[in-house]
Amino acid sequence: MLSQDIPVSGPAPHQTTTTERGSFAVARCTCGWRGPARRSRERARTDARSHASTPRLDG
Ligand SMILES: [Zn+2]
Repeated sequence: MLSQDIPVSGPAPHQTTTTERGSFAVARCTCGWRGPARRSRERARTDARSHASTPRLDG
């Protein structure tokens, strides 16, 4: 788990990670986003990538 204070100027970078929960993998992001549980770790990574490349409008 990263716990750094990164100066934000402009769009915040999405640092995504994948966490395994039992036989499932869940993608998580430093912005607080969490993807759905996937049976495949690759699926979770795909969710993370698609999230990181999608700008959030709220916030
Ligand atoms: Zn994010």
